[in-house]
Amino acid sequence: MWGVIVVTMGGEVTGLPQQDLVLVGAGYAHLHLVRQWRMAPIPGVRLTVVSPDRELTYSGMLPGVLSGLYSADAATIDLPQLCLASSARLISAAVTGMDPDSRIIRVEGRPPIPFDVASIAIGSSPCLPPAVAGVSEVISIKPLGDFESRFSAAVSAVRSRMAVATHDRPVEILVVGGGAAGCELALALERWMVRRRFPARFLLVESQNTILRGYSSRTVERMQRELRARGVALRVSQSIVGVDRREPDSSAGEFLLKVQFEDGSVQGTDLVIWATGGGPMPLVEHLGLPRDDRGFLLVQKSLQSISGAPVFAAGDVASLLGCPLPRAGVHAVRQGAMLWNNIQHWFQRQPLREYRPRGFLSLLSLGNGRALADLAGWSFEGSWVWKWKDAIDRRFLQMNRIAPSPLEEPGPGATGEGGRVSSGMRCSGCGSKVSASVLKTALGRLEGTTAGGIQGSRRSPDDAVVVDREKFPVDVFSVDFFPAFLDDPYLMGRIAALHALSDLWAMGARPVGGQALVTLPPGTERQQSELLYQLLAGGLHELKSAGAELWGGHTTEGGELLVGFSVAGCLDGTAPLLKSGLVPGQSLILTKPLGVGAVVAAIGQGQVSAGTLAEALHWMLRSNASAARAARQSGVTSVTDVTGFGLAGHLLEMLESSQVSARLQLQNVPRIGGCRELFERGIRSSLDAANRKRAEGRIEVTAGLAESDVALLFDPQTSGGLLLGVPGDQAQQIVTLLRQKGDEGACVVGVIESPGSGPGGWRIRVE
Ligand SMILES: Cc1cc2nc3c(=O)[nH]c(=O)nc-3n(C[C@H](O)[C@H](O)[C@H](O)COP(=O)(O)OP(=O)(O)OC[C@H]3O[C@@H](n4cnc5c(N)ncnc54)[C@H](O)[C@@H]3O)c2cc1C
Repeated sequence: MWGVIVVTMGGEVTGLPQQDLVLVGAGYAHLHLVRQWRMAPIPGVRLTVVSPDRELTYSGMLPGVLSGLYSADAATIDLPQLCLASSARLISAAVTGMDPDSRIIRVEGRPPIPFDVASIAIGSSPCLPPAVAGVSEVISIKPLGDFESRFSAAVSAVRSRMAVATHDRPVEILVVGGGAAGCELALALERWMVRRRFPARFLLVESQNTILRGYSSRTVERMQRELRARGVALRVSQSIVGVDRREPDSSAGEFLLKVQFEDGSVQGTDLVIWATGGGPMPLVEHLGLPRDDRGFLLVQKSLQSISGAPVFAAGDVASLLGCPLPRAGVHAVRQGAMLWNNIQHWFQRQPLREYRPRGFLSLLSLGNGRALADLAGWSFEGSWVWKWKDAIDRRFLQMNRIAPSPLEEPGPGATGEGGRVSSGMRCSGCGSKVSASVLKTALGRLEGTTAGGIQGSRRSPDDAVVVDREKFPVDVFSVDFFPAFLDDPYLMGRIAALHALSDLWAMGARPVGGQALVTLPPGTERQQSELLYQLLAGGLHELKSAGAELWGGHTTEGGELLVGFSVAGCLDGTAPLLKSGLVPGQSLILTKPLGVGAVVAAIGQGQVSAGTLAEALHWMLRSNASAARAARQSGVTSVTDVTGFGLAGHLLEMLESSQVSARLQLQNVPRIGGCRELFERGIRSSLDAANRKRAEGRIEVTAGLAESDVALLFDPQTSGGLLLGVPGDQAQQIVTLLRQKGDEGACVVGVIESPGSGPGGWRIRVE
């Protein structure tokens, strides 16, 4: 079952890192570290960032976005781009916990990630009281990324309720928190409402006896004056103890929410915006690290946890022992430099240095092209202060928008899953086997398989799988594997399994089992077994979801990480669905958008945006199972899955075996958003040329169609969709069924026609 051999690669081999540095959360200090990594990665160390957000909204510019001074894009950092530029691995998921003793980080929906050194920068939480947490009219400032859309939806709901009211009145908005964020937000939202001509009244509530605590009295006065001038009422020394939601008599224009204050008074309002500095993120409780009395992580001035574990923390999440600091982005940014210094020192076993806080300039947006500055007791205000703030914020954004140059080599010493390292000649044959314990350790950690990797067949380790034919009547086999294109082995395992299983689904077969094919780069036992485990955990997840089992596989050591699966399926007594059988009058349905090939090429060149990558991953991680079942139910005659040859190549195979032609409507062919732009920039898969050559003489493209659209037809797909030949009069009905079952990308893309005259008259006409 599991074989292990070594492949030499002409003396130079790729290798796995010796150690792992894992950053939890893409806080400001971590962004600094990722930027530094680009210039001076620590030799032998892999950098991994775990973040649920791919697009980060810069808090300093959010008030400007809400005021209409910036577009949302202008305030966004593209995390995948930044990580690619720095050869850092990005795991797009939320961390759910940590075990500092066994040095693992638990991640939502996937296996834990081991670390040698970790750092936490997950910010803070506005901490909505549990009583208001589920009320949709109470809007938390976090997450920042979708704050505007949540606010906008809530305003629309209030306004549509008021549209039926006989007593017209402004929308009442109560902002909780008189810190810098709350003040900026109240003024920005006032602008937001004015720009839309929505009458509104604002109330800013602060529990302390003053807004902007810690700022100079001059700055506080200026802010109070500005709030007054803009119609934002102020209530200080008032804590909210509850929010009561009651379905109001809308015809009387009553308020939906009744806010109860500590002093017993009650205030009616339509919306509550929660912008308090608050407390720690709920995750902090699950990190297994010492915390202060408010629940923040207690760190030394070196930013290392006071527990002594190799775990650092910076920004809002950290409390410096004996040195209380306000939770401000400025400290989070400045701590970045110290964090980077001390993490380098940790790996080099040098003494750590201490973070020494200094006073800082605070620049507050007033939302109308003016800003307020506070520095060492001084206070300034005006449009020139806004220009100053604007220049600083734009520079910060620019710093974090490093686009990787095309085909850039990783920096010296950079090590990823496929990073090259120079090493001596590797032995081949039996003398250089990957340790059997690598395999045993990885398999032993997988749920749903034995150390021998077999279920549903003989369980003791042996030379080959003996399949129980009673339990597993196998009719259909397929195999597929390819080099990893993501630096995320768990997702690569899932995609590779889905890609291989797709062949079975296309044939109308039910998957029953699969074997993994893996080539691991050389590395330590620990790193190899971790990589193998993550790959197999991903593959097993998809096999299990498809109702199949993992029957072992084969692992070699080689130059780059390759992963794939050999899979087996059962037809349950039905005839297989074939590529042939198309007849004129039928329609063609494609179930997933195209463009994956260009996106994969763009990943390799570091040219993919966060949004495009997220969409491509969404489709690659979508199984063809439900599309195949829907196809069977709907009497589909001919099926194939669209993979390496692209839509044109796979359609030509269907046409040849059916001896018919097809007409494709190019504007109906679904595509991943952002891939047209990649084609326009000349980014193509390396298979593009071969796919075009293959179609030569068989494809007629109507003059005038844009090359960036035509390129879609030759784009190879990884885990692509199904191409279905369906009766023409049922095509729309089948598309509706497919979309209802979750294949929202399904579209009718063309029709089948009679072939041209003469032998081999079958072809594709594209219009
Ligand atoms: C509207 C507004 C305006 C502000 N303006 C200013 C200003 O002008 N000047 C100033 O100094 N400060 C300002 N602040 C405060 C400032 O934003 C924070 O102090 C700063 O963002 C804290 O930085 P951080 O690096 O600690 O965390 P953050 O910037 O909050 O980043 C934390 C990251 O961790 C991620 N994360 C959270 N949970 C998890 C998890 N479970 N797993 C993985 N990742 C996770 C988050 O998604 C986020 O990307 C403002 C705040 C707001 C809300």
